[in-house]
Amino acid sequence: MPNPGTSFFGYRGKWAQIDLANRKVKIEDADSAVYGNYIGGRGVQARLIYEHLKKSGPLKNPLAPENRIVLGTGALNDTAVPTAGRGSCSFISPMTRSPEEASWAPDHQAVFGMITHASAGGLFPNMLKRAGLDHIIIDGRADKPVRILVTEGNVEIIDAEDDLFETAGQTKVVKTASAITDFLTQKYPGSSTMCLGPAGWNKVAFACLTGDHHRNFGRGGGGAIFGSKNLVAVTAYGRGIATYFDADEFTKLAKEIDAQVKAHVADPKWTASFRPTTGTTWWLDRAFNGKYLGKQGGYLPWHNFDEGWFDPAGYAKVGTDAFLEISGKPKVCNRCRHIMCTRAAKVGRGDYAGDGVRPEFETIALWINCCILDRDAIFHLNHLSNELGVDTMTLGSVMAGAMDLQEKGFLKKFAGAPKFGSAPDMIRTLKAIAYQSDDLGNVLGHYSDRVIAEVGAGNGALDIRDIARCVTTAFGGLGYAGIEPKAFPGMFTAYGTSNRGRGDHTYAWTIQAEEGGLEGAGNLAAYVSAGQFGKALVDSMGLCDFFTEDITSGLFLSLYHALTGFEYTAEAMNSCGKRIYNLERHVNNGQGRGRAYDAYVPPKLTVPMTGGGHKGRAIDPKYYNEILDAYYEHQGWTKDGIVSPAKLKELGI
Ligand code: SF4
Repeated sequence: MPNPGTSFFGYRGKWAQIDLANRKVKIEDADSAVYGNYIGGRGVQARLIYEHLKKSGPLKNPLAPENRIVLGTGALNDTAVPTAGRGSCSFISPMTRSPEEASWAPDHQAVFGMITHASAGGLFPNMLKRAGLDHIIIDGRADKPVRILVTEGNVEIIDAEDDLFETAGQTKVVKTASAITDFLTQKYPGSSTMCLGPAGWNKVAFACLTGDHHRNFGRGGGGAIFGSKNLVAVTAYGRGIATYFDADEFTKLAKEIDAQVKAHVADPKWTASFRPTTGTTWWLDRAFNGKYLGKQGGYLPWHNFDEGWFDPAGYAKVGTDAFLEISGKPKVCNRCRHIMCTRAAKVGRGDYAGDGVRPEFETIALWINCCILDRDAIFHLNHLSNELGVDTMTLGSVMAGAMDLQEKGFLKKFAGAPKFGSAPDMIRTLKAIAYQSDDLGNVLGHYSDRVIAEVGAGNGALDIRDIARCVTTAFGGLGYAGIEPKAFPGMFTAYGTSNRGRGDHTYAWTIQAEEGGLEGAGNLAAYVSAGQFGKALVDSMGLCDFFTEDITSGLFLSLYHALTGFEYTAEAMNSCGKRIYNLERHVNNGQGRGRAYDAYVPPKLTVPMTGGGHKGRAIDPKYYNEILDAYYEHQGWTKDGIVSPAKLKELGI
């Protein structure tokens, strides 16, 4: 039997339109055709944002009330499929914008913020589904601080209690993410909360949203969007389950998938085999030392992406083994099985003693890029970032840029500018950014072109060009991930073309393929495109990046059919991935994104590395432009990176 009011299976069949300005909530039957074409989660979110912007036009200021943020899940969420606990939110990002002229960037064109989807596990996504909704669509700005409560298909907008705030300096600001979560969990036992922290309240451009204490909608600035809406938290509680199209068949097929995942985790040839012990931190050793499968290391970024290699004795203090030493029991997302990448962690003594979770590879790598070689300080900074609601990855890039500026003498007008290698400086600057408590913190909390303009104010054009050279997040960048961009032209293409902004590594990942010999502009372009389509599907289904199985295999599609009743061939499923990716790109075209944004190469990335296994490598802009040509051709976009009306029609957009 379908759910009451539901015309399709696997989902809850409802979404909520929440108008904060008028304090109105409308719960509607979700449109099953949208879920059929866009799968769920990220895909449906893209469609809902596209429809919103179609009416209002490009959004020039992502912090305006007109920005829409959509939180949601997919059909596989809360099922027995391993890793079925990931959800996401989508919005126009306040970080990936470059609205003013930029004399230092050749061919600059204004971009006003990319559509961003930020993904998290933990319990919140599955709890939202149990609470009866597939998506919540949040518009407008409340006239005073509010929070949202979703319970058993009902949504309330509630005044945020004074207990959620404190005074820092002279200013009223929300408490830390844990304090907010604990208060709301006590009020609604068994619930799960996704909230901003002080950074989001202060609209820091890379503020995240934090769920279940340490699971973040990390990238792009979702916390700032909540802050701009006067929205403190969303709490969900429910015990409902979706109705399956054929529950017996699903149970049978889910056991087969489970056995496959288990077998792949047990096989040392699969990277998944390392996840239960070292999690993502396995990549630290891989990137620094290589050795795995005979490959070269030397691509762990160092000194603001200047190098991919540094003193091995320094590395040993912050490498994979160092973090294994402080790792405790698994602390995994709801519904995760076998892969189980997250561990609790504890530092027993010293200035940074405390309990928490082991930081992820990307976080550690990007703080090593700030020359921080203190494991316990990295652990503490990770905990602090979660509490203050700051995305650890973009923070790493912003901080490395600030340290570079300090080293080159461009921050003399700011007291206490952070120095490469100083964890205390980084901790102090992180707090100053989150609480906007000093001049430098105030400047660094904005999108990067504004940082360049404010640091460069009063300087000549040549100095501003040199200032911009220190900032790899310039021209609307999201911030490169923890693989040194100079080492892999394919990965640099994945970074450069990701829909959620320059630097994102999750929409396509080429490292194993490039290490295995993949090369040539056409081959790299094809590989990146295919990865982007596949990832759009995984994100839309409610699964984790680390899910091991082929989601277009016959077995998987049969399982998906047993759950939803939707019948896809492999080709039809791939078309959904293309549709999602092209729609996001179309939204980004409307926000000003074209070839100029994709083609931008931060000048410091053209300087060859001087040591390590990839010595001598750098980005070659000419070759990168050849790959971009091939990439656009492969995508069927114009040579300027625009999705044509014919392409939109072909994909049914
Ligand atoms: S593999 Fe890691 S991130 Fe993925 S669902 Fe499991 S615990 Fe969460």
